[in-house]
Amino acid sequence: MYTLSMFVKHLRNYSCLIPNKASNRLFSLTFVKQVDACVTNWELSKKYLLLNFSDHEEHKYHYIWLRDHCRCSKCYSKTTHSRTQQTHKIPANIYPLHVSLDNGCLSIEWCDNHISTYSESWLFQNHYNKSLEPFLISDIKCRYWGKEIQTNVPESIHFENVCKEKEDLLKLLENVAIYGFAIVKNTPTTLESVRTISNLIGYPRKTFYGDVWLTTNRSEEDMDHADLAYSNVALPCHTDGTYFLDSPGLQMFHCHEHTGTGGETVLVDGIGAAEKLKLTNPNAVEYLAKTWIPATYYEKDRCSKALGPIIKLNPYTKEIYQNK
Ligand SMILES: [Zn+2]
Repeated sequence: MYTLSMFVKHLRNYSCLIPNKASNRLFSLTFVKQVDACVTNWELSKKYLLLNFSDHEEHKYHYIWLRDHCRCSKCYSKTTHSRTQQTHKIPANIYPLHVSLDNGCLSIEWCDNHISTYSESWLFQNHYNKSLEPFLISDIKCRYWGKEIQTNVPESIHFENVCKEKEDLLKLLENVAIYGFAIVKNTPTTLESVRTISNLIGYPRKTFYGDVWLTTNRSEEDMDHADLAYSNVALPCHTDGTYFLDSPGLQMFHCHEHTGTGGETVLVDGIGAAEKLKLTNPNAVEYLAKTWIPATYYEKDRCSKALGPIIKLNPYTKEIYQNK
């Protein structure tokens, strides 16, 4: 989450929130390398099947787990990728009567005569002592920045191109993953154009603001919400949506009308700043990652509260992935 400050004279903004992980700087564009290996040998024990693979690794598969992951049409729907059997109906002491390997497929005839088949590749990809690291480490390296970004702003991408060219959409996502922000230019001044881009990236999150909404300079009595975004005061650097249980991963702002002076948007690399703090005061980062702080939003007839840490850390790399 990046901080944004705005000084508004007469500014009308279309805004939109995209949930975390659809656009998260660390988790987006993560790509998991699949490696395959063949079964070279197997051994049956009392509770599990031990498989040896051609990469010299061996993995245990407990019978109850194998039966629960049966891929036959009675137990699993290939269309919805969902289990269709009820786990609690599998006997806890389930065991195989017969195991065979043929043409890359392992077949098991169970003690209740049910037959399950699993491909070697599926077994290798799904052994359950597998590290989750590949899911959490992105090939994209974040670039943290300070004021020098002003002379080296990532290239803006034309709205039409983002909509039509996959390469341009990928460039947009790469900028978000690397820098935490991206700029789309020549965007039609409609609410729908904000929705269009958000749907290309993920989906807009509906909150009490709506999914895509308009903020404009109003008098206190006319404000749609009790939020400074509806006023013309300068907003110092801040993060948004701290009072939601799942703070937004990405926010989209589209200025479609501006008169007067001011209204500049100031971006701050909040994650970069927290990473910097980690170097000088790691205890402070640890404190902010472990201490849950309440955040509250109030307006007439509405109150939204959330409790959570200011900083969230990737459990494997210890990199900061959210600073709110
Ligand atoms: Zn089955």
